[in-house]
Amino acid sequence: MTSFARRAERVQPSAIREFLALAGDPRITSFAGGYPDPTLFPVDELHKIYDSLLTPENTSALQYTASDGLPELRALVAQRLTADGMPCTADDVLITQGGQQGLDLTAKLFLDAGDVVVTERPTFLGALIAFNPCEPEYRSVPMDDEGMDTVALEEVLRTTDRVKLVYTVPDFQNPTGRTMSLARRRHLVELAERYDVVVLEDTPYRELRYEGERLPTIRSLDPNGRVVHLGSFSKILAPGLRLGWALAEPEVREKLALLKLAADTQNGTLNMRAAAAYLSGFDVEAHIASMLPVYRHKRDLMLATMTEHFPAGTSWTRAEGGLFTWVTFPERLDLAAFQRDVLVPRAGVILVPGAPFFADRPEVHHARMSYSGVPDDRMVAGVRAMGALLADVLA
Ligand code: PMP
Repeated sequence: MTSFARRAERVQPSAIREFLALAGDPRITSFAGGYPDPTLFPVDELHKIYDSLLTPENTSALQYTASDGLPELRALVAQRLTADGMPCTADDVLITQGGQQGLDLTAKLFLDAGDVVVTERPTFLGALIAFNPCEPEYRSVPMDDEGMDTVALEEVLRTTDRVKLVYTVPDFQNPTGRTMSLARRRHLVELAERYDVVVLEDTPYRELRYEGERLPTIRSLDPNGRVVHLGSFSKILAPGLRLGWALAEPEVREKLALLKLAADTQNGTLNMRAAAAYLSGFDVEAHIASMLPVYRHKRDLMLATMTEHFPAGTSWTRAEGGLFTWVTFPERLDLAAFQRDVLVPRAGVILVPGAPFFADRPEVHHARMSYSGVPDDRMVAGVRAMGALLADVLA
């Protein structure tokens, strides 16, 4: 086809989808998807709620509602954000189709072709997929155990024209599991002000902290409203609901709402009603608290099994929350090739090779491994098998 728009050149299939398709095969042990543990979904509660929402006398859950989102749900989200140090009202909140739509709408609002987006190195692949159709350029900034290196960020901001957006996942980042320190959060806000850029703070894992102390959001440290803050119910309730939110200054939120109207009119009323009923009728904080020991246990088990079975020369991050560890292998190992030629055929294990998580200058010797969706015995067997194959190919 020659008639596609120019942006379609940046809409390409990814090799990852091919392997994620395998994740449904019961013979495959998947460390690939960032899927929440399905045994943690509040199924009984949601069942009751959906039953009560679907009665002949009460059809409002099947009707259109406001494009910004169901007012009750916006108010409940605003309450939770206020409790998290970001004072706001329902009017400041836009309900989105998962956090992913917040990325798409924010890109559409701020990015012209050739504008520069600064990302962490590596960064969330899904964000790149959302930004790409706007045809931005990328600059990536190194990370360490304190998150994005803001001194390196300053250098990029000082030397690069047309930087519009700095994108960060400050809490238990996808893919590394790393968290940005308080000092760096403050520095980032300072730099955004000095260099006149917008910060896009993406926080779907924020509430899954199972160790260490909660840090303030970047938005809560920003006196001037330069931060667009995104969140999601995917990891604290269920991703199938496709519910997220954006918190931003009135002018920004209003434009995001208009872009949302153009994209999909509104989120499904039924799911918004269900989420509102869940938040007002059940104890979501207790639900979240009940998930934390499960994920902490899974992280500990995966890291301990890697310590035992992965060969020398491999290293990994230790997340204080969230679902991921980022594993770095000897530079000569290309994880995409290793997965395709060795790991899948010989062990039935899948992960996500690291290269697509780099906005520029990809590195092939990393992988993102998720511990969230795999039962313990299969996790141990999968990591052990992978360790043996690694020892083989690296020998
Ligand atoms: N941001 C990050 C960093 C993510 O990891 C994800 C999904 N895993 C999303 C946004 C989008 O998630 P959802 O649309 O399900 O809220």
